Amino acid sequence: MTRRLYYEDAYLKEFMAQVEECRPTDGGYLIFLDATAFYPEGGGQPCDLGTLETVSGEEGGAPETKDGKISQAVRVLDVQETDGRVAHFTDGPLLQKTAVRGRIDWQRRLTHMREHSGEHILSGIICKTYGYSNIGFHMGREFVTVDFSGLLTQEQIGAAQRLANEKVLEDVEIKAEYPGAESLSQLEYRSKKEISGPVRIVTIPGADCCACCGTHVKRTGEIGPIRVIGSEHYKNGIRLNVLIGEKALADYAQKSESAAKISALLSAKPDQTAEAVEKLLEAMNALKMEYGALRFRLLEEKADSVPKGQKSCVLFEQGLSVTDARRLADRLQEKVEFSAVFCGSDEEGYRYVILSRKGDIAAFGRAFNEALGGRGGGKAPMIQGSVTALRREIEAYLEKMGI
Ligand SMILES: [Zn+2]
Repeated sequence: MTRRLYYEDAYLKEFMAQVEECRPTDGGYLIFLDATAFYPEGGGQPCDLGTLETVSGEEGGAPETKDGKISQAVRVLDVQETDGRVAHFTDGPLLQKTAVRGRIDWQRRLTHMREHSGEHILSGIICKTYGYSNIGFHMGREFVTVDFSGLLTQEQIGAAQRLANEKVLEDVEIKAEYPGAESLSQLEYRSKKEISGPVRIVTIPGADCCACCGTHVKRTGEIGPIRVIGSEHYKNGIRLNVLIGEKALADYAQKSESAAKISALLSAKPDQTAEAVEKLLEAMNALKMEYGALRFRLLEEKADSVPKGQKSCVLFEQGLSVTDARRLADRLQEKVEFSAVFCGSDEEGYRYVILSRKGDIAAFGRAFNEALGGRGGGKAPMIQGSVTALRREIEAYLEKMGI
């Protein structure tokens, strides 16, 4: 059994210990100490990282090594619990039966402690208020995910978030204890699984009481802001994406900057940007309508400018929608027997609408597509489709057909 120094003092950043065992493993070494402040991955909390360093002048037992070399200092790359012992996975071997100084990556651990305590508050409040259990918990690189057994509305999430932040501001003490069997049986606490042996209970007065093996901050005030930034359905319940502590602060700073930029762009006060965007959308829709009407008039004028008495009219246009092309071809039909509108360019190809008051337009379409690598069809009096041929090839084909 390894002595768990992180349970005696969760704020221990450096510690001394004895190397009990060091052995090679895939990609590195496994080092076991008599005591450690390195938290092994468990209970939703990732492991600690850091270094182990031989205290100078120590002579101990050489372990089995891959190249005969012993390191003075090694990096701890992973920490796992195995058979009641804490295994430190390192990038090098250390002498056995010697003293080492361990240093944990404190910023990483503190972030985990804030996130873990923040998660307990939120889960405790949701359990108490809505009766849903926490069925999953993961501290990701970007945010914490917490899964609950039932669905929550946005209002309920907002209310739980507000209560959680109030508990942070109250700055109450967070306690971790091992109650005796009798007091444990009287205690109402959250637990994800059946636990054998002594149960470690983490209590946050007024918010939560939960069986937990993780590390926590001393007081809720240290947690910092708790912000739910997203939610999704998950296994008949809900998954919340949560930012806690420094990540919530960084998010606030980034969003404030973005809000200030939007506010400057809209020339609106930061708390009135939504109304300003609504007005902007209204103005844009009005412009769209006006643009549509103008465009229609332009098409009409274009069609009207075609001299009377022509048998056919073929136009190449850019930036026309298929609807506009149809409108234009329709309008041309009032004057000519055969009208065709091609929209596009030689590079991207052409979409076409062709109308004819005479002849078999469907048969014409088939021959047209075959000759020019096109696709599409229709029936009298209109065909439409697309071709990949160049403009001069299309024009040459139509000329050959006497159009
Ligand atoms: Zn926990």
